[in-house]
Amino acid sequence: MKIKNLFEDKKVVLSFEIFPPKPTSKIDTVYNTIEELAVLKPDFISVTYGSGGSMTSNRTVELSSLIKEKYDIETIAHLTCISSTQDDIKKTIDELKAKNIENILALRGDVPIDKVSGGSFNYATDLIKYVKDISDLGISSACYPEGHIENKNLDESIKIIKMKEDMGAEHFISQMFFSNDAYYDFMNRIYRNNIKSPIEAGIMPVTNRKQIERMVQLSGASFPYKFLKIIDKYENSPEALEQAGISYATEQIIDLVSSGIRGIHLYTMNKPHVAKKIVESIKPILDALNRSEN
Ligand code: FAD
Repeated sequence: MKIKNLFEDKKVVLSFEIFPPKPTSKIDTVYNTIEELAVLKPDFISVTYGSGGSMTSNRTVELSSLIKEKYDIETIAHLTCISSTQDDIKKTIDELKAKNIENILALRGDVPIDKVSGGSFNYATDLIKYVKDISDLGISSACYPEGHIENKNLDESIKIIKMKEDMGAEHFISQMFFSNDAYYDFMNRIYRNNIKSPIEAGIMPVTNRKQIERMVQLSGASFPYKFLKIIDKYENSPEALEQAGISYATEQIIDLVSSGIRGIHLYTMNKPHVAKKIVESIKPILDALNRSEN
């Protein structure tokens, strides 16, 4: 099923992101993670893609196929383009179709440090256009509620989303954020600019300090006072920090869906026990929303 159709059937969609094991680890090290996440019955699971066409890229196809075939859960295979030629992308698309995978998350990927991409594509918009031309895959793409790290201008960020939609993207997943207020401002801009595609809010349960330092570098998300206080208070107590991080993410989700946000995408970090705690808390709320008439 195309991801956009999930939003026709449900008021609120819940999805997970997983990443393939590093090439130095066996692929089956992630099988238990998938098994435990599948029990939580997400509407779909997306599988990240190592940029640069590395071995993890084949694993994206393989794991997406496993999720769909073995667990009957819809899937999105992430696909980056910055280091790929059109032929590389065509080959991956053919592999995805051969495995009955119906959706991709079309991404540029991070530009290599040497700035020589060696590929045919400069931006995700180029990839969206190309995939739309050569296939009938469902196309999702990324969006950045607080701007992209290379360009924090929110008006331009919204223009890029509109361009992506006009090129053929029909669903978006947001970068992680910790301030729901920032997300609501972003959604206001989305409505004002007549962007109609469903957008899922990306939620990352923060369960250790190292994760946060990495996120500051990668996401450029702002950290509300309450969030920073939690980290400071519990940084030397891993169990307390994990529990507080889970509670923070759970509160974020309940606030978002209660305010009409249509999709939650949980960055699981391949930690099913964290996803399980969150899903157990939010399930009655999602069930009630999905049963309601309005
Ligand atoms: P783009 O949308 O192309 O944007 C990149 C930059 O260029 C932005 O600053 C934008 O403002 C600007 N821009 C975009 N289009 C144009 C245009 N037409 N003209 C001029 N400027 C333009 N990375 C991975 O390697 N693997 C993954 O699996 C992966 N999954 C992700 C999933 C999500 C939900 C998100 C939010 C990110 C993910 N990333 C992943 C990270 C992503 O690759 C980086 O954030 C990357 O730097 C940008 O990719 P993009 O597709 O958003 O790029």
